[in-house]
Amino acid sequence: MKKKIAILGSTGSIGKTLINIIKQDKKNFEVILLAANKNYKELFKQAKIFNVKNIIINDKKSFLTFKKKYKNNKIRIFQNFESLDKILKSKLDYTMSAISGIDGLDPTLKIIKKTKKIAIANKESIICGWNLIDKELKKNKTKFIPVDSEHFSIWSLVKDYNYKFIDKIYITASGGPFLKWPISKIKKVTPAKALKHPNWSMGKKISIDSATMMNKVFEVIETQRIFNLKKSSIKILIHDKSYIHAIVEFKNGLKKILAHDTNMKIPIFNTLYDNINEVKFLKSKNLDINKLNNLDLKNLDKKKFPLTKILNKISNKGSLLETVLISANDELVNLFLKKKISYVELQKNLLRLLDLPEFRVFRKKIPKNINEINKLNTYVRLKIKELCI
Ligand code: NDP
Ligand code: MG
Repeated sequence: MKKKIAILGSTGSIGKTLINIIKQDKKNFEVILLAANKNYKELFKQAKIFNVKNIIINDKKSFLTFKKKYKNNKIRIFQNFESLDKILKSKLDYTMSAISGIDGLDPTLKIIKKTKKIAIANKESIICGWNLIDKELKKNKTKFIPVDSEHFSIWSLVKDYNYKFIDKIYITASGGPFLKWPISKIKKVTPAKALKHPNWSMGKKISIDSATMMNKVFEVIETQRIFNLKKSSIKILIHDKSYIHAIVEFKNGLKKILAHDTNMKIPIFNTLYDNINEVKFLKSKNLDINKLNNLDLKNLDKKKFPLTKILNKISNKGSLLETVLISANDELVNLFLKKKISYVELQKNLLRLLDLPEFRVFRKKIPKNINEINKLNTYVRLKIKELCI
C-alpha cells in the first residue's frame, strides 16, 4: 500500500530534498498535502508531479494568485492549517515538518493529531515549544523522528535504549568559516564572508548561525529537550570535516559514533522508511572510509565563539527564554545581513538583550500554550528594532 504523506515547507531546502527522494520511489507514496508560504509556482510544479489534491499557501497574495492562475486544476487550495479537518479524512502515515522559523510550531502541533509519524526538521518549534509538541505526540500516539543531522544521529544511536542509559552526548560543530581565523580578524567580517560555510550548503540565516556557533547552541537545547537530558550531559566538539555527527556514551561503557557524508539527504531518507523490506536504497555519494583514519575532534574555543555562553543562561527544563533567544537572534541576523549592524554588534546585542531584567524572568516560565510563544515572539522583534535601529 502507498504511504500517505504530507510535506510542510515543501518548497524549502529540506522539503525539496525530500521531494527528490520520493520522486525516485513514486509508486510507494501518495502525497496528500503540500504547504509553503509564497512560492506558488514551485508548489504547482510539485503538485503536478505527484498529483497532489491539497495545498496550503500561507501568504495571502500568493494564495489568491494560485487560486486565480490554476483554477481549472482539480487542486483544493487553503490558506491555513485550520482547514486540516476538511483536508484529512484519515490519518497520514508520514509528515515532514520543515517550515522555517517559529511559524512552523502551529502547523506542527496541528498535524501531529493527523499523522502516525512526524519527522521534524523545524528546530525553532522544538526549541521553543517542545513541551507542547511532546504532549501532543503522547496524546495522539504519534511517532517522532528528528531530522536535524546531529539529532537524527543521536536518535539512531539511542532508539533501542531507555534514555536513562545515556551518560553523555557529544555533538559536533564544523566551526564554520572562521574556525582558523584570529579573533581580531573575525571582528571585522562582512555578511559575504560569514555566509561561506566550508562544508554544508544551507540557507543564509542558518549559515550565519553556523559562523557565530549559535546553531550549535540551538542544537544543544534541541538535544536537551528531545532526549530529556541535563546540559551537563551534552558537549560540543569541533570536527571541521563534518562527517561525524554525534557520539553517545552509554552508562554500560559503550561509546557509539555515527558518521555519514555531509548531505541532509541521508537523515531525511532514513526518516521515511520503517523496515528493511520497504527500503529503496539511497543513491548518494558515500563517505570515503579512509577519512575515518583521523577523527581530529577538538574542544571549542569559547573566546572565539562568545555566544556559546548563552547555554549558561538556559535552564534544564524548557522555558519562554528560548523564544526570546530564537526571535532576538533571528532579527539580529537579519539586521547583520542588511548591513545595519556589525558582526560584533550582532553578538553583543544578543547577550545584552538576554540579560535585560524584563527578559531574564522568562527563564522561570514554562510555555503554557502557543499564544504565549507567539505574543512574546512579536514583542521581542519590536524590542530589537527599538534597541538596534
Ligand atoms: P528554507 O528557508 O529553505 O524553507 C522554508 C520552507 O518553509 C519553505 O517551503 C517556505 O515556503 C516555508 N514557509 C516559511 N514560512 C512559512 C509559513 N508561515 N507558512 C507556511 N510555510 C512557510 O528552510 P530549510 O528547508 O533550510 O529549513 C527548514 C527548517 O529545517 C528550519 O527550521 C531549519 O532550521 C531546519 N533545518 C534545516 C537544515 C538544512 O540543511 N536546510 C538542517 C537542519 C535543520 P516558501 O518557499 O513559499 O517561502
Ligand atoms: Mg544540524
